[in-house]
Amino acid sequence: MSAILLESVLFTVLIALVAAAVAVGLQEFTPLGLWLKQRRNRDRIDREVALTCGVHGPQRAHELVRLRDGSTMCPLCYQETVHGLIS
Ligand SMILES: [Zn+2]
Repeated sequence: MSAILLESVLFTVLIALVAAAVAVGLQEFTPLGLWLKQRRNRDRIDREVALTCGVHGPQRAHELVRLRDGSTMCPLCYQETVHGLIS
């Protein structure tokens, strides 16, 4: 009985290792991998730009103010827009 369990575990590990090797091979040695890396770069840059205010610079995501239309705004710009300049 234990031999069957051990064989099942080893077979599962073998399948996981083959799947991991295929995934790494696709990502490192094919145009698909390059495309995925470039897409991740684009997403990262888009996230950074979305978190950067043109006036006040980079902001943290949890500090942004969500407007009624669903867009987000820098907290300092929101404060200045709604309550006027506060020095
Ligand atoms: Zn701002």
